[in-house]
Amino acid sequence: MPTCTHCQTNWTWKQTIKKTFKLTLSGKLICPVCGKGQYISLKSRKKIGFLNMLILLPLLLNAIASVNPLIIIGFMVLLFCFCVAYMPFLTELSAEEEPLW
Ligand SMILES: [Zn+2]
Repeated sequence: MPTCTHCQTNWTWKQTIKKTFKLTLSGKLICPVCGKGQYISLKSRKKIGFLNMLILLPLLLNAIASVNPLIIIGFMVLLFCFCVAYMPFLTELSAEEEPLW
């Protein structure tokens, strides 16, 4: 679970989900305790990006075997829920914005 770099508070799962969905345009996450802005670390953004790619995995399955499209969509929805639920465990905060390259 992410820890605030300013006040060292551990964010709860629920707080992290809420903050991630309310990401400001600048990519800042505002700490619910001290109100200071921070960013998702580069390492953690890469991990989350990889996790999100899992959602597309059923499409690959569809390419190899002919599976009912409803099953593929069902799988993708399930994977999406899993990714959202698991994301806070991969989120790490950084005080500065780290560019992707
Ligand atoms: Zn804080």
